Amino acid sequence: MNLILLGPPGAGKGTQARMLTDHFGIPQLSTGDMLREAVAAETEVGLRAKAVMAEGRLVSDEIVNAIVSDRLDRADCARGFILDGYPRTLQQAEALGKMLAEKGRALDCVVEIAVDDEQLIERISGRFTCANCGEGYHDIFKMPKVADTCDRCGSKEFKRRPDDNADTLRTRLQAYYKETSPLVGYYFAKGLLRRVDGMGEIGPVHAAIREVVERCARR
Ligand code: ADP
Ligand code: ZN
Repeated sequence: MNLILLGPPGAGKGTQARMLTDHFGIPQLSTGDMLREAVAAETEVGLRAKAVMAEGRLVSDEIVNAIVSDRLDRADCARGFILDGYPRTLQQAEALGKMLAEKGRALDCVVEIAVDDEQLIERISGRFTCANCGEGYHDIFKMPKVADTCDRCGSKEFKRRPDDNADTLRTRLQAYYKETSPLVGYYFAKGLLRRVDGMGEIGPVHAAIREVVERCARR
């Protein structure tokens, strides 16, 4: 099953991708995580990205595309993948289409997780993750079951992204609407778009996404 999760920052892409990974046994490909991995592994692409990231600039489409292409060739993607945070621009979507065609693969569906802006601010403001395994948490909506201990790996270290605040979110949202939201129309025109209401609680949203994805896979 080859999926893209699309939606504004805070919509729940990371949360849902991890749940889909557990359910379907296909990996979550987050370009942010992949960039950090490539830098750590000192691959050719990683070395190029490192310099750009160190200067605080945005990593170019070309580098991100190359990283995704390499990642798709790894054995764990043989049965499918969940792209989370990529593609982010029309140019990246075109590049993804080309690389999948070259690899003899195709997307099954693109799930758009729709959430109101006010709700996004609330979600982003309370977000934190496990420093060890990356599991996502929230001050109100999803606290660890045992205080200060990761449900998944038992780590006691957590981190918050410095850009997860109401002010920065407004800028990130504008970038989303300008650069990324055109992908909604792009994938709709290809007959791949499935819109899911992301305003509910995590469990029900997961159930809705699973239903949509299973229906796509049966086509
Ligand atoms: P994204 O990857 O789209 O930026 P996340 O998955 O990190 O979004 O979710 C943002 C925050 O909102 C996280 O703290 C997460 O725990 C919380 N969250 C995710 N889905 C829901 C939901 N359906 N209801 C309430 N909070 C949620
Ligand atoms: Zn953890």
